[in-house]
Amino acid sequence: MRAAVVPALGAPLEVREVDTPRPGDGQVLVRIETSGLCHTDIHAARGDWPVKPKVPLIPGHEGVGRVVEVGAGASPVTVGDRVALPWLGHACGSCRYCVAGWETYCLAPQYMGYTMDGSYADYAVAYASHVVRVPDAVSSLDAAPLTCAGVTTYKALKVARPQPTETAMIVGIGGLGHLALQYAGIFGTTTVAVDVEDEKLKLAAELGADHVVDARGDQAAALAEIGGVDVAVVTVPSPASMRAAHAALNPNGRLVLVGLPADNRLELPVFETVLKGISVIGSLVGTRNDLRECFELHARGRTRVVAETRRLEDVNACFEEVLSGKVPARLVFDLGA
Ligand SMILES: [Zn+2]
Ligand SMILES: [Zn+2]
Repeated sequence: MRAAVVPALGAPLEVREVDTPRPGDGQVLVRIETSGLCHTDIHAARGDWPVKPKVPLIPGHEGVGRVVEVGAGASPVTVGDRVALPWLGHACGSCRYCVAGWETYCLAPQYMGYTMDGSYADYAVAYASHVVRVPDAVSSLDAAPLTCAGVTTYKALKVARPQPTETAMIVGIGGLGHLALQYAGIFGTTTVAVDVEDEKLKLAAELGADHVVDARGDQAAALAEIGGVDVAVVTVPSPASMRAAHAALNPNGRLVLVGLPADNRLELPVFETVLKGISVIGSLVGTRNDLRECFELHARGRTRVVAETRRLEDVNACFEEVLSGKVPARLVFDLGA
């Protein structure tokens, strides 16, 4: 099969023929149709994070395709089912976090495109228990970005428990942010979109943002004028953006972090955090249930995915495109051809 392979951390990806994997016990083989490009894939390929991925690695954790083979053992999915292969490739199901419904913080997890080979390939093996069925009303092109960008931001808002009289600010209207903005609206909040690119600000307005703030201007003054914000989801890996979001929070405000800065550092003022009772919350992707909810909302027409397709052969150029910040929202590899 064709696959984009990271031969060594930091090396360019090689698109080449590799053996098609076989599904083991409890696993399925999926013919991949689409696979989104998440910024995490770039970090994985470069070995940017303290915990390193497997090498050689096939990245990809926004894969969508049809089950073509089921391994031994009971399976909740069958041949022909269209499924998504999210970041959480497997969770043990029995540790206290799994049992409490927090499987994304499982003590013995497997991650697609990190500890397991992912979906930058014609085929991928996944655990039958952890793939999520895609409803017929959701196209494979739309399902791919929902599988990480969607569920990550949906969960980030969920953990902030937004109330309908509150204001939620989304910082960065890219792959994650354009969906976060729509979920903030679905949760009933007044929405504020912040970005530094004209195109992204325009997209935010098109997606129905109640307020659009250009962070190249006086962001603090603009946010003060609308009465501050109660929830801030920062999708960009920028400590300066996180600090600016923290500074805009009202009492009882919640700052939710989903982007990971390269140097892993963030300095925040303790005085304001204590005096305003501010919560700083980290949130990692979402559970299978969260992803099912994202698909259901999309099937009901509540969200719009902004994405463009690319060829897997252009994977290295696509990484550069994402790093330049110039992509419309999400890039999705079309493997159906
Ligand atoms: Zn991701
Ligand atoms: Zn577990």
